[in-house]
Amino acid sequence: MRGDPGQLRLLALIGEFGSLTAAAEALRLTPAAVTQQVARAERQWQVPLVVRGPRGARLTEAGALLATHGRVVDETVPLGLGVLGLHDGGYLEVDDRLRVPGLPWLYAIGDVNGRSLLTHSGKYQARIAADHVLGEDAIAISDGPGAPRVVFTDPQIAAVGLTLDAALQAGVAAEAIDLPTSGTAGASFHGRGEPGTTRFVVDTDRDVIVGATFVGPEVAEFLHAATIAVVAEIALPTLAHAVAPFPTRSELWLKFIEAYEREREATVHASRRLSEPA
Ligand SMILES: Cc1cc2nc3c(=O)[nH]c(=O)nc-3n(C[C@H](O)[C@H](O)[C@H](O)COP(=O)(O)OP(=O)(O)OC[C@H]3O[C@@H](n4cnc5c(N)ncnc54)[C@H](O)[C@@H]3O)c2cc1C
Repeated sequence: MRGDPGQLRLLALIGEFGSLTAAAEALRLTPAAVTQQVARAERQWQVPLVVRGPRGARLTEAGALLATHGRVVDETVPLGLGVLGLHDGGYLEVDDRLRVPGLPWLYAIGDVNGRSLLTHSGKYQARIAADHVLGEDAIAISDGPGAPRVVFTDPQIAAVGLTLDAALQAGVAAEAIDLPTSGTAGASFHGRGEPGTTRFVVDTDRDVIVGATFVGPEVAEFLHAATIAVVAEIALPTLAHAVAPFPTRSELWLKFIEAYEREREATVHASRRLSEPA
């Protein structure tokens, strides 16, 4: 379908109510006022929104739309766990090998165990459980609250590991380094001047990154480098040798090292060879 966005939004509104007259009636406006409000919102880069409440529908506008949701255990199709002495309607408790306590032959992977309600966590758990079934002493360590997570909004939000609050609560000597996500030459090609902050959380006792959060355009693809740094606990003097190519957005890592050095008034650069232990 072609047409200017304002026209399309108006058509969507009319589609929702059946006709412009019905939309105007529900909104207690004249058809001309509905058209004018949608056009005005479009001019101001606002999104026309219909808000429904106990007192009826209202046409309003917003600069951003944030959708939030929660999830609950689906109790509509009971699993019949009663025969095992377990209860339906809740998460199945598992140990780090994904086995249900007291039933060493029963593995529960994915959302059902409530550890991390994400597809990639379920896939990771499947590998751990399969390895364990095959006799390896595999343990799941990356599917807790610090699992990689992406909110696919615009801008995207991508995070891994501990937030600053979580790190401090866990007793980590944590410090946050905040940087503008678009503060690199590479961002000129992708997301020039776009708002968004990147936060690295560093354990200053051990000089390792324990968490990272990226906010900005298409930052989901940034996440895996941070995940590797967090999971492998790469010491910053080693990380400083991981040179980011110019001009790419990966130079955010260079900006991070520079900012950390400024903050700590100490260099982490090249203080040891890569073959030396951390
Ligand atoms: C709106 C939404 C968006 C999401 N977006 C993302 C995302 O972007 N990235 C991400 O990583 N994750 C996302 N998730 C989470 C992701 O979908 C889940 O973590 C993932 O699907 C879990 O996989 P699973 O196999 O454990 O469970 P499911 O995918 O829920 O599979 C369980 C299956 O078991 C079936 N079942 C249930 N009870 C019975 C029964 N009694 N008998 C037989 N079959 C039964 C169900 O019908 C279902 O097919 C999203 C979830 C939602 C709801």
